[in-house]
Amino acid sequence: MYTADYHMHTNASSDSDASAESMIERAIELGLDEIALTDHVDFDDRYTYPDYNEYIPKFLSLREKYEKYIYIVLGVEIGLDNRIKDKVNDFAKSFPFDFIIGSSHSVMLYDLYFDRKKYFSLFRTKKEAYSCYFEELIKNIETCRTFNVYGHIDFVNRYGVYDDNSLSYSDYTDYVDTALRLLIEKGKGIEINTSGFRYGLGQPHPSADFVRRYRELGGEIITVGSDAHRPEDIAKNFSAAYSILKEAGFVYAASFRKQKPVFRKL
Ligand SMILES: [Zn+2]
Ligand SMILES: [Zn+2]
Repeated sequence: MYTADYHMHTNASSDSDASAESMIERAIELGLDEIALTDHVDFDDRYTYPDYNEYIPKFLSLREKYEKYIYIVLGVEIGLDNRIKDKVNDFAKSFPFDFIIGSSHSVMLYDLYFDRKKYFSLFRTKKEAYSCYFEELIKNIETCRTFNVYGHIDFVNRYGVYDDNSLSYSDYTDYVDTALRLLIEKGKGIEINTSGFRYGLGQPHPSADFVRRYRELGGEIITVGSDAHRPEDIAKNFSAAYSILKEAGFVYAASFRKQKPVFRKL
């Protein structure tokens, strides 16, 4: 089976200390066929992101150095927020990325990590806070056109401030269906991101019910990523992710070349 980890960070991301070489060498050691380096680009002054005029030549030399052993994709994970859609779209078009993950790291410009308390204090209930997350996510899909898969689409459940932060498809069917239908209509995919296991959620982002629904609605493009920020997390919990995909009826997972999906049999 073809194995590709389509979401990982290196020390070019402000929240990782791992060299690109250490990530690539671990992926080779695990026998992976392909990886995407997807360092963060968030347009929030509290984060830094690489200068891609320097990053890309370095990336290309690494790709060449390791090409006998593994294929490496030039990816990026861009923080989407419809309030800064022009920045997002202009940035994405400026560099020859093979693969772009668009993620909701902030909602209405409230960063879910730094501003968690402020964001959730805007709402009386979890239902309202999570609904707003999805309303904004739908606007992001409509306005930030330049991404290939939506990252960790149920991510708000990692940052909730409630005794029970769980989020299930059945509580947000209208929002989730609207989001998934829009993605499908626009030829975009989702990812199954196994970091949820590392964060103790006992499930990936998104959970199996979202993956099943995406398939039922006709979704075909799905990547599998660990969101590793250090070598030891690469491809972790992939067997659980593959089982969820197969149970949902997926026969293929996606890789990308020049932002076009290539389907690999599961
Ligand atoms: Zn992310
Ligand atoms: Zn990430």
